[in-house]
Amino acid sequence: MPGTKTLIETEKVLEESEEKYLHLTRLMPVGIYCTNQEGVITFYNEKAEEIWGRSPQLNDYNETRFCGSLRLFNADGTVMAHDQSPMAQALRYKKSFRSEEMEIERPDGKKIWIVVNIDPVFDNNGELTGAVNIFQDITERKQGSEVATRLAAIVESSEDAIISKTLSGIITSWNKGAQRIFGYEDKEIIGKPINILIPATHQKEETTIIEKIKKGEKVDHFETMRVDKHGKQINISLTVSPIKNEKGEIIGASNISRDITQKVKTDKQLRIYNEKLKELNNYKDEFLTMASHELKTPLTVIKANLGLLQLKLNDDVSTEFVNRTMAQVNKLSDLISDLLDISKVQSGKLKLNFTSFDLKELLTETVQNIQQTSPTHKIIIETTHDNLPVVADAMRLEQVIINVVTNAIKYSPASDKVIIQATSQDDFVTISIKDFGIGIPKKALKKVFSRFFRVKETSSKFLGSGIGLYISYEIIKKHKGKMWVDSEENKGSTFYFTIPAFQ
Ligand code: ADP
Repeated sequence: MPGTKTLIETEKVLEESEEKYLHLTRLMPVGIYCTNQEGVITFYNEKAEEIWGRSPQLNDYNETRFCGSLRLFNADGTVMAHDQSPMAQALRYKKSFRSEEMEIERPDGKKIWIVVNIDPVFDNNGELTGAVNIFQDITERKQGSEVATRLAAIVESSEDAIISKTLSGIITSWNKGAQRIFGYEDKEIIGKPINILIPATHQKEETTIIEKIKKGEKVDHFETMRVDKHGKQINISLTVSPIKNEKGEIIGASNISRDITQKVKTDKQLRIYNEKLKELNNYKDEFLTMASHELKTPLTVIKANLGLLQLKLNDDVSTEFVNRTMAQVNKLSDLISDLLDISKVQSGKLKLNFTSFDLKELLTETVQNIQQTSPTHKIIIETTHDNLPVVADAMRLEQVIINVVTNAIKYSPASDKVIIQATSQDDFVTISIKDFGIGIPKKALKKVFSRFFRVKETSSKFLGSGIGLYISYEIIKKHKGKMWVDSEENKGSTFYFTIPAFQ
């Protein structure tokens, strides 16, 4: 009959279309495999082989059944038995699976994420004959989305407002931090212009920022003002960076705003306190100067009169009393001079009177004077130089020598000598004063030249005010010299100072 095909012809057509179908299946960019009703693999394509990383034997009952992967994993990362796999379930319960994601492992140890779509296959009588599984490698997408999820979580949990916008300033994303700082929820602000957040006085900023972004530049920690939903002004530190697409074109910007309202308030408060402190400090310095001057005048008169009295007296007891009084008046006078010096240093009024003289001579005379009043220690000067010519302030250097040498004696009560060495090298004269006394604890070494500093552990045993070394240090500094100390507890200290031989 015309138009009807013979059985042979029909079989041929069927064979040809099956071949075409198989050919197509082999070339498909997704993995495809079939099993019989017992899960034995009867067919798979090249892509399936590539994803599994192995080539299971076909129609082999000893092969892994239900799936060609070496190993399968449950969602919690534990190994899934092949007979628990979606393919096994599809055969067991005659059901389909759609877009089921799971992790598999290849023989080379590489783990791969796949998405599977499974259908059981039935014959014309509705009997189950097997199943077909079409699956895809989604590792890259999965990893990408994991990174994206992690980043999104960071953005969401940030205390800062993280906002993205287009180059025309339209808000495209809005995190929880932005909601907290500016008061708007994402759905009420996304799609609106960012200018909503900018006070009228700062509107021009946005144009400048966008100009920079278009040039690929970043705006870093720019301190400015923004306004929240209720019109409240907020101090923010703003960082804006360009956002680029895959081709590297700038398509928008990310705004990170940190609320610094509290910091600005605290800074302002600190500045006010600082000003107040400076003012109080000035009052204190002024008072110190005034008080020292006022004390100095009557003290000078007392000293002069005591001097006259010393000459007039001829009985030993009275002379002894006057001498003792004179010694105390001298101490008081020294203290007042030190206090006056402090205020001079503080106000930058410590002026030096430079002359040229022989420092060796000054050293020798000063030591002789100290030696007279301090017979307990032998003060030895060691130098190979006949003279040490310097241009310096002789009175101030004498003051430094007295301070350091009297300290050396005071802080070495169990010793009987102090050694002074004087050297001159490379236009610098160096004087060292070595004692064999109580020494200075390591932690205090850096502080001994600070104003009013005294070593706590020993301060109650020795009289002092913590002024001498501070002034000495400032005097040497003014000479463009250096002053430092080496010391070891219970062994002794060596104080050094250098001054340039010529100014
Ligand atoms: P003070 O009047 O207290 O001696 P200084 O400014 O001269 O003041 O010295 C500061 C502190 O440094 C002293 O109180 C003392 O603790 C320590 N000090 C100074 N010189 C010596 C020294 N030669 N040996 C041990 N400690 C010293």
